[in-house]
Amino acid sequence: MTFKALLTRKDGDTVSTQVVDFEEANLMEGDVLVQVEYSTLNYKDALALTNTRPVIQQFPLIPGIDFSGVVLESGNPGFKAGDRVVLNGWHLSQTHHGGLAQRARVRGEWLVKIPDTLSTRDAMAIGTAGYTAMLCVLALEHAGVTPDKGDILVTGANGGVGSIALAILSKLGYRTVAATGRPEHADYLRALGAADIVDRKTLSEPREAPLGKERWAGVVDAVGSHTLANAIAETKYRGAVAACGLAQGTDLPTTVLPFILRNVTLAGIDSVNAPQHARQEAWDRLGTDLDLDKLNSTVQLIGLAEVLDVYEDIIPGKVRGRIVVDVN
Ligand code: NDP
Repeated sequence: MTFKALLTRKDGDTVSTQVVDFEEANLMEGDVLVQVEYSTLNYKDALALTNTRPVIQQFPLIPGIDFSGVVLESGNPGFKAGDRVVLNGWHLSQTHHGGLAQRARVRGEWLVKIPDTLSTRDAMAIGTAGYTAMLCVLALEHAGVTPDKGDILVTGANGGVGSIALAILSKLGYRTVAATGRPEHADYLRALGAADIVDRKTLSEPREAPLGKERWAGVVDAVGSHTLANAIAETKYRGAVAACGLAQGTDLPTTVLPFILRNVTLAGIDSVNAPQHARQEAWDRLGTDLDLDKLNSTVQLIGLAEVLDVYEDIIPGKVRGRIVVDVN
């Protein structure tokens, strides 16, 4: 039995990806076999496919950090044939075959059941980006940031994490400010729920002063580097910053002053190895706290082979919102 898949190979220093017919018997170990319906393309997938960072640790490998689909066979007591499931992260596209394929065999503990309010397509419109956005919102809530405390800054706003963070926060009643390098998409950001838009350049340059004017009750940061440092320096007393990304850089040139003078909380967000209870909480909240019309306005739907035409546009920031891949 074969199915269609993307397969990434390495030859010397060259990494390349093609559509292949893959033997089901060659899938890796796992106790659940899934008929994949949708996958998606995230920033991390672009890092893997372009080999910008060593995401894929063994070759050849099916790429794709996310998939949604229906269980075909299960030896895991938590799942049965017919269950609708989603998988984000874990070892996919690192050391385990990923989601850009029509079938996947994985360990049951990596899977989460999709809430009844969401389709398998919605689950991939959300993908790792949306699930990470929800982990960021949960971190702000955990730190006591409620809508009455003031504005929430969302950086990398036109990206997958940023777009969905705006939609979730606005549904929850927060006033959001979107930082973007693409002000031409301001109408799109406003439709997602942004009350205000700022040019990302106002945040991305180094500053002398370790503290700025107090502007943000909370921050969802997908960008890192000077942007994150400046956002922390502008966070209000007892505010919180959820740091999930590195689109500007991995450095963080800050001081301890925002933490020891303003009691600011810096919350790290890792979606890849998050425990299953945290994942299920995030997915359950996505099932209730995300406006599906807004979600669908962020989606571009492509086929498996088209992945090869678009992945190079992601790192230069030419893609808006979410790319969903219909693998069938
Ligand atoms: P996208 O490519 O969809 O979005 C990234 C956005 O960042 C761009 O749309 C752009 O927004 C902004 N951006 C790009 N380059 C720069 C730059 N040089 N300076 C400032 N802003 C920039 O990626 P995702 O939304 O999927 O992911 C966002 C980040 O979060 C990535 O770094 C990704 O690796 C990380 N991530 C981390 C996860 C975790 O578990 N911690 C999980 C998922 C993602 P605009 O055009 O509006 O300026």
